[in-house]
Amino acid sequence: MTGFVEKPEPLQVPGLVHLHTGKVRDLYRNEAGELVMVASDRISAYDWVLPTEIPDKGRVLTQLSLWWFGRIGDIVPNHLIGTDLPKGAPADWEGRVMVCRPLDMVPVECVARGYLTGSGLAEYRQTRTVCGLALPEGLEDGSELPAPIFTPATKAEVGEHDENVSYEEVARRTGAETAALLRQTTLALYARARDLALDRGLLLADTKFEFGFHDGELMVADEVLTPDSSRYWPADGWAPGRPQPSYDKQYVRDWLTSDASGWDRAGELPPPPLPPEVVAATRGKYVEAFERLTGTPWT
Ligand code: ATP
Ligand code: MG
Repeated sequence: MTGFVEKPEPLQVPGLVHLHTGKVRDLYRNEAGELVMVASDRISAYDWVLPTEIPDKGRVLTQLSLWWFGRIGDIVPNHLIGTDLPKGAPADWEGRVMVCRPLDMVPVECVARGYLTGSGLAEYRQTRTVCGLALPEGLEDGSELPAPIFTPATKAEVGEHDENVSYEEVARRTGAETAALLRQTTLALYARARDLALDRGLLLADTKFEFGFHDGELMVADEVLTPDSSRYWPADGWAPGRPQPSYDKQYVRDWLTSDASGWDRAGELPPPPLPPEVVAATRGKYVEAFERLTGTPWT
């Protein structure tokens, strides 16, 4: 069970202690005890971190998170302290580094869904519920839900699937008061982002937040509302009853599961490197998401 085809060696930066190499982000601690989060250009699909990077992806994700942080601050504070390059850090960290408050993280992935797809759809097809919430009959892949729902999951190790859990399970793990706060905040953030995205012609199908506490105060951490943590669909092409074209890994998934890749998703072997045209098309999707949401050309 390895998620990485080849796990990158952490960079040695004087003054920074390497803490963790995630699927996408590298985490360090600076001398002030702050968290230095560096978004890489790595991309994962089908539980593998692929051997090929997507140029600019780390900067797109970071800049989109920052843009969203500026639009949700009245709902919940966030972990961001600043974006200055730490002294001695490589110049190519510029634009993809966030210096953050280390939080006492809540061990729950807080997902909001306004549309049914992915693991929600899979559960619905078996039991007509998502995370134990009963839903109406007759929903299809991509259907809009009667109202957005809070569908928490527990964070998996690299290479494992996150597992959907019930609200009651969250309450058991975090306490009733925190669970209520997580649900309320997640749904408020979703509603804000959904409305804003729709103004830009994008449906926000679902999104995941991670929260933590600082001095007893709830803060949103990690990245927010990026194509890696969220499903955005072009509103004008939306048609329930089939998978919607997604804003991020569509080309990667399509290629990996096509004959052209020669890769067996069910097998033991890691996925092969991506061809240049798949890399370029995928980069284009991330950039397009940034440009559509922010209304600013990517430079
Ligand atoms: P894994 O680390 O298992 O690969 P991942 O794919 O989510 O999970 P990344 O997203 O690449 O990893 O790394 C970000 C990590 O940093 C996550 O484990 C996230 O929970 C953690 N994190 C984000 N913000 C904070 C914060 N303010 N304080 C503490 N931890 C944080
Ligand atoms: Mg993550």
